[in-house]
Amino acid sequence: MAELFGVDLGTHLASIIAEYSSKESIYGYPKRKFYLGFPGYDFSVQFHDKIAATPLGPASGPHTQLAQNIVLSFLGGGRIMELKTVQIQDRLEIPRPCIDARNVGFNVEWSQELRLEDSLREYVNAWILLKVIEETGMLGIPKGDPFYQTIFDISVGYDLAGISSPEVHDWLKRIRNAKAEIAAAKETLPAEYDAVKNLDIDPHIADSATLSTFHGCPRDEIEAIVEHLIVEHKLHVIVKMNPTILGYDFVQRTLHEELGYTHIELDREAFEKDLQFGEGVEMMKRLQVFAEKHGKRVGAKFTNTLVVKNHDEIFQDPVMYLSGPPLHVISMNAMHWFRSEMGDDFPISFSAGITRHNFPDAVQCNMKPVTVCTDLLKTGGYTRMSGYLKALRDEMEKCGAKTVDDFIIRNAEAPYQAEVARAGVSNEARIVPALVKDPRYHCNANRKPPKKIDSYLQLFDCLTCNKCLPVCPNGANFSIPAEARSEATFNYRYDQSGYFVPEQGEDFVLEKPAQIANLADFCNECGDCDTYCPEYGGPFIEKPRFFFSKASYEQFSKYDGFYFVDPHCIRGRMGGKEFLLAINPDTRVYLWQEIGRIEFLLKENHNFISGINLCELPDRELIDMRPYYHMRVLLDGILKDPDAYTSVMLRGIRSQY
Ligand code: SF4
Ligand code: SF4
Repeated sequence: MAELFGVDLGTHLASIIAEYSSKESIYGYPKRKFYLGFPGYDFSVQFHDKIAATPLGPASGPHTQLAQNIVLSFLGGGRIMELKTVQIQDRLEIPRPCIDARNVGFNVEWSQELRLEDSLREYVNAWILLKVIEETGMLGIPKGDPFYQTIFDISVGYDLAGISSPEVHDWLKRIRNAKAEIAAAKETLPAEYDAVKNLDIDPHIADSATLSTFHGCPRDEIEAIVEHLIVEHKLHVIVKMNPTILGYDFVQRTLHEELGYTHIELDREAFEKDLQFGEGVEMMKRLQVFAEKHGKRVGAKFTNTLVVKNHDEIFQDPVMYLSGPPLHVISMNAMHWFRSEMGDDFPISFSAGITRHNFPDAVQCNMKPVTVCTDLLKTGGYTRMSGYLKALRDEMEKCGAKTVDDFIIRNAEAPYQAEVARAGVSNEARIVPALVKDPRYHCNANRKPPKKIDSYLQLFDCLTCNKCLPVCPNGANFSIPAEARSEATFNYRYDQSGYFVPEQGEDFVLEKPAQIANLADFCNECGDCDTYCPEYGGPFIEKPRFFFSKASYEQFSKYDGFYFVDPHCIRGRMGGKEFLLAINPDTRVYLWQEIGRIEFLLKENHNFISGINLCELPDRELIDMRPYYHMRVLLDGILKDPDAYTSVMLRGIRSQY
């Protein structure tokens, strides 16, 4: 499996600036789908003691792993970013694929796949990039506008020993005050970014955390971790609850009898081992008192994914984790039960099966943030987020509300309209019981996988539907412009007298004017683009794979792949052989090497100029030129689109980690 690598701040900045100024998109996300606010509507919400411009955010997961993911979430309108969970074990081997978002949504995903140090760097870079977007006003919204108010919420796991270890302790201190890390990131910038170097950036990246614990983590340990985070790190803390808190019988009845997911088998043991409802309520009541004494707030998040038996062949593990529509119904009930015990104003954040259809209702229940994961893995990816906020605007318009609080109040029944917390509970009492009857959440509505056609992907040409681009949480797939063509090709036969004699080869046919490729260093082989690709094979497997550096190209030598040696030269491995193709931008002459074997100079139209035998080629040896024609498509296409973020990154990468 390839490994995830982030890229440095300067490379991100160069990519954003080049792509946005020439193509009006950022990391492939087009401006026409950016969330740019709705005049007259204020979506802001308070989360702990900060204000966020919207209650929407990416859930802690694949959409908050790398810096670009967080920027993409921001462009979609996310303003409370639940950073991917960090933990002491930062060298995990995650099984692949790890995501199955065909319909319901399952995963065997876990915490950050990056090392602790690298995760921090990604979050710091994202923090800086959002400040740069604000500072430059590049989206057309002036600096200082409440539109930019964004909160980063740490997610940390999984047990007291890990969280209080020196490594995680240090990590939490550093993200609480990232002065040194911000300075270090600025230090890497070249002189052209002096304005960014001189930016005054708030180093307090996060002052709240959501706690994730292992299944079966005892109540007293959860409580001790929360106290530790409050006392040692001065954090507000949200405890992520498991759906098992509802008890086996309720979940089984809801999932099987009411929603019809009879093929999904629950793990009874997990229900018995996990935190029980009563002890969860008592714990949170004690923690509320504890937090208040320390000037902090605690709340609960509904919910974690639901552990179920693996009934399919996508994953190897015996259990997997359910998300999506059925989890929405279960988690909304868990939230409703819990708040009924805790009181109207008990802070709740929510993430389970959120879509544009139920987002306004979730907001109406006075939960913040409302975060999303599974739905963003579907066609359109991050661009789906702006649709959530449009749906919220539409619902607010219907009831004449201009602010989120007013929206909550106006939807409540008459006696409960006096204050927001009571109104939220009144709304939830209306919304939650109706969910189980809504066919949208039933098994019958969530059976169909995305359509496949009877065709397998190859290196070049495919349906060119571009679905694989936005579904990738990391922006790892990209499109290269190409010219559709059918052209004669030539191989060369070595002649003992030192000549290379042309022999006509098979015609090279390219049917599509765009070709798909993959950035291996941004791809963790989660499998999501394979799910949404109409053809079989998986774009991240079959399409040309580009590495950012020689080091990662060499590290993953079992894969065919390519990297840029310099901005006009790619080196590649195809069928186990090594090649190099470079263009002289002034003369338009191409240098072609089959490493250690031959070196040719060729004209732009492929005409042969000269050739050198780099080894002892036997007489009449045939030089197969197919790799040359393939690499010409890649090099020419990337050079033709120099402002795409992928071109900027591949050609100008400064460093990666
Ligand atoms: S390219 Fe495909 S497999 Fe790789 S990270 Fe993106 S969605 Fe997952
Ligand atoms: S690789 Fe698949 S998803 Fe991507 S453009 Fe081609 S057919 Fe569409």
